[in-house]
Amino acid sequence: MRYAIFSDVHSNLEALEAVVSAYKKERIDEYYCGGDIVGYATNPAECMEIVQALVRQTVAGNHDWASVDLFSLEYFNSMAKEAIAWTGKRLDANHRHFLESLKLVYKNDFFTLVHGTLHEPRDFNYMFSDSDASMTFELMDTDVCFVGHSHIAGFFAYDRVAGITYSEAGSADIKSGNKYIVNVGSVGQPRDQDPRSAYCVYDTDKKKITIKRIGYDIGSAAGKIIDAGLPRFLAERLSAGK
Ligand code: ZN
Repeated sequence: MRYAIFSDVHSNLEALEAVVSAYKKERIDEYYCGGDIVGYATNPAECMEIVQALVRQTVAGNHDWASVDLFSLEYFNSMAKEAIAWTGKRLDANHRHFLESLKLVYKNDFFTLVHGTLHEPRDFNYMFSDSDASMTFELMDTDVCFVGHSHIAGFFAYDRVAGITYSEAGSADIKSGNKYIVNVGSVGQPRDQDPRSAYCVYDTDKKKITIKRIGYDIGSAAGKIIDAGLPRFLAERLSAGK
């Protein structure tokens, strides 16, 4: 199987369209989304409709649930709060129902998918350090777990001898007996100094996970954020990749 896993679209339609067209060249069997379809940019409805048509399973992100009042706004900074309020006004009953019904964790024979961490997924904690990762490694019963949330693409690997190692290389070979947590990065608002959209492919026959990057029309996405009256930094950060 060739699985597509992407996350953190954040209502950025230009970025999502670029990623979907890149995936069309990848012979993908099934698509999965790690959450935060909405929040920050200006096309929540359009992005949700593309994701719903394409993806077999999406897990809940903090912005998804905050937009439908399932996660408290107290955990967000003022710019994110403003974007969530703006987003909430642009969702119809079907969009709201879709976001409300998202599960926190998805699992199949090959991988687990969660927005933040497996340790208390409802709290949407970030995974930055080896010790953050260790709590999720302990709870995994698949070899691979895909996460999003930090918008920083990278691989945590657990090996019984070497312990936990972290890499921001573009790919990892899956060795049996080891475990891997893969942050697939962000489609719509990368924060790892590379402004191009991140998207991931897991080839279970080749036992290889690859994170790829593709450029998109940042000027168009940023212009719409400014025209909508949303905080200017949300537009400026797109070209900085932070
Ligand atoms: Zn996010």
